[in-house]
Amino acid sequence: MNIKVEMTKKPKQKPDQNNLSFGKVFTDHMFLYDYKRGEGWINPRIEPYHALSMDPSTMVLHYAQSVFEGLKAYHGADGSIRLFRMRDNFERMNRSDARLCIPHIDVDECLQALTELLKLDRDWIPSAPGTTLYIRPTVIAMDPYVGVKASDTYTFFIILSPVGAYYPKGLAPVGIYVEDSLVRTVKGGLGEAKTGGNYAASIMAGEIAKEKGYEQVLWLDGAEHKYVDEVGSMNMFFRFKDELTTPRLAGSVLDGITRKSVIQLAADMGEKVVERDIPIAEVYEKAASGDLIEAFGTGTACVVSPVGKLFGGGREYAIGNGDIGELSQKLYDQLTGIQYGTMPDPYGWMTIIE
Ligand SMILES: *Cc1c(COP(=O)(O)O)cnc(C)c1O
Repeated sequence: MNIKVEMTKKPKQKPDQNNLSFGKVFTDHMFLYDYKRGEGWINPRIEPYHALSMDPSTMVLHYAQSVFEGLKAYHGADGSIRLFRMRDNFERMNRSDARLCIPHIDVDECLQALTELLKLDRDWIPSAPGTTLYIRPTVIAMDPYVGVKASDTYTFFIILSPVGAYYPKGLAPVGIYVEDSLVRTVKGGLGEAKTGGNYAASIMAGEIAKEKGYEQVLWLDGAEHKYVDEVGSMNMFFRFKDELTTPRLAGSVLDGITRKSVIQLAADMGEKVVERDIPIAEVYEKAASGDLIEAFGTGTACVVSPVGKLFGGGREYAIGNGDIGELSQKLYDQLTGIQYGTMPDPYGWMTIIE
């Protein structure tokens, strides 16, 4: 793929590395790639970061035919650019695309586009401890048409955002609120796809949880409200006395890349890891009896997010005295060690761009 590059004439001022928030500042350049039915993907290009111009009738604005991904570039101590399991993100993007009738994009072309973009904006990768460059590939339906169908035109773009440490003061436990009436998705819905509509469905419950003093929503299955699905935009893990368990992938849970990495790391640490249906009643029971030792969410943004308390079934449960679990900390340390390159990478998860 021959990517046309137009460099910015006005490089932006870079933000203060010690004062970065999440997802508000973007780098100097972006990658763009258009699709037209009959022609395929055309016109791959890197341009100065700019606003998209679109007709108010553009389909994505009305019917949410869109897919996104989220991954990070880490600044290596030697100045290299480090990427974690990046092929998996673009493979997942294509699985999401298939569910939303968005045309397939060649994974190797995505990797090439991302690599060229990162090389161009490499000075934007922050190096302060815990900081990263967040990468947001997105594809949107572009037909100017107020009618429901699969669009005939799409734009795929990649934007980059330097982000601050998720835990500026070290791992911190969060409180979660079990949502037992609103649902995010159902089996057969879009739960397995990384798509904007799932987030639209989640906002209201997030507001309710916040009002009640909890940071995240624990979603139950959409049909019976009986089994654990996910937490916020993270996969959920419970460490019971005799197993580390996480909901199996059965149609409504996202196939998280952090999730599968944690499953592998924990198994290699000697934990018994079980993917299964987890009744919320079992969680309440084991939280009350002391058999729930730790709970945590996993996702690219936080890596591991320990849960200190859980509200559900009319009461609040403290988990592990509200502290950070031993396994949560170990998994966080090992995974971030591999990502930043302070620990060996026996799994071959990292891609290094010199
Ligand atoms: C992105 C996402 C996750 C986490 O996936 P990672 O690949 O680990 O970042 C979990 N749940 C939902 C709903 C998500 O959108």
